[in-house]
Parts: sequence; C-alpha cells; structure tokens
Amino acid sequence: MFENYEIYLKFLNEKLTKFFNSQKQYIFCTKGCGKCCKNAQFPYSLMEIKYLLAGFLRLDKATQDIIEANLQKVAEEKKNFKGEKFMYDCPFLVNDVCSVYQYRGVICRSFGLMTTSEDGRIKAPFCCFEGYNYSNVMNKRGTKISSRKFKALGVKEEPTAFNVSYKFLTSQDFEQTFHFLFGEKKPLIDWFLPENNSGEAAAEDSTNEQAKNNISVA
Ligand code: SF4
Ligand code: SF4
Repeated sequence: MFENYEIYLKFLNEKLTKFFNSQKQYIFCTKGCGKCCKNAQFPYSLMEIKYLLAGFLRLDKATQDIIEANLQKVAEEKKNFKGEKFMYDCPFLVNDVCSVYQYRGVICRSFGLMTTSEDGRIKAPFCCFEGYNYSNVMNKRGTKISSRKFKALGVKEEPTAFNVSYKFLTSQDFEQTFHFLFGEKKPLIDWFLPENNSGEAAAEDSTNEQAKNNISVA
C-alpha cells in the first residue's frame, strides 16, 4: 500500500540530501538535537500518519509504551487547552531522538533548510534564532543574509532558500506524478484524539489490527 508513496519519499530524500549538502556550512543539525520536534504542530496527512504507524509497529514494546504514554499526555494537554494554537512536543520523540526516523513525515524531512515564502521572501528556520541553522550568516531577525557574517565566514556560496514548504511538498502535482493521495491533513496529535476517532481510523486502515490496539488514546 505504500509502494508509490515510498517512491515519492525516495525522490524527496534525494532532493533534500542535495539541498542539505549544498548548505552544509550553514547547517548545525546533530542527532539528539530534537529542537524541531518540540513545541510545534507537525502537519500530517493521512498517508503520512499511516506510514508513521507502520514504523511504530516495528518498534520494540518498551518504545511503543513510551510513545503511547506520550500520546496520552499530549492528548490530555490538548483536551484541556483553551488557547488558539496548541503546540506540543512530538510523542514519537524518545530520548531526544526520532523513534520512527525512516517513517517520519514530510515536514520532518525538510525542516532546517531556509525556505521561500509565498510572497518571495526568504525565511530561516526557527532554530536560526537559537544559534543553529543559518545563524552564522543571517541577520538577527533571520530575514536577510548579513554581509558582515558572510564575509567573516570566508565561504564562496551564499546560502540558498528552497521551496520546501509543507504545502508545496504535499501538493497535487506530487500526488499526480507519483500516483498516490496524501489525503486529509491536520496536526499530528489530532489523528490520535478520541473525539474525532481519527487515530482509530488511521489505525484501522493500516491493515494491522495491532495498530488499533496500540495507538488509540481514547
Ligand atoms: S533543524 Fe535545527 S532544531 Fe532541527 S535538528 Fe537541525 S539544528 Fe536542531
Ligand atoms: S516524527 Fe520524528 S522527526 Fe517528526 S517531529 Fe516526531 S520525532 Fe521529530
């Protein structure tokens, strides 16, 4: 069921690897950083969540238990949240490492690059402001390349912004090219909330009954 989606992911990975390699003098990602897996919303489509669940099912029981506890905790926090935009740490982050790395969603793969916004402006990732990606070359607001910093670095290539927004990478163009559908999109945690049964629906679709038993946080 994931055949075409995996072909798309292979294509995406190859593109992103090239992009990240071309920016390596500005990238400070390390295993265990995990900051981009915290305090965010993580948009996920139905296809991505099913794939994530397939990864979950391959984990050992102890790790699955940790994730289930995380899911329960975040779902509870969301239930009690009164504000407008609920932000949370990804429940699949275990000891600051992604437990389902090979199965992570599109947003998780592209984050960390500098992007172009719809109005053509460049946008550094949030971690730029925390001293990580592009912080050695961008101005303090992360909106412009600092010529002073660029000169001080002594590198030849200026940083490049890429069109790697979630909206673009999960657009119809890619669905048509690779012959699959992303389906409905919403924040990752919403797929696991009991009130809309989305987690169960995703699990039921995943062809493995174990998913339903393990992942629902109702
Ligand atoms: S993108 Fe930023 S926050 Fe995420 S791992 Fe890389 S440096 Fe850390
Ligand atoms: S699925 Fe993995 S990479 Fe994506 S936000 Fe969660 S922990 Fe981070």
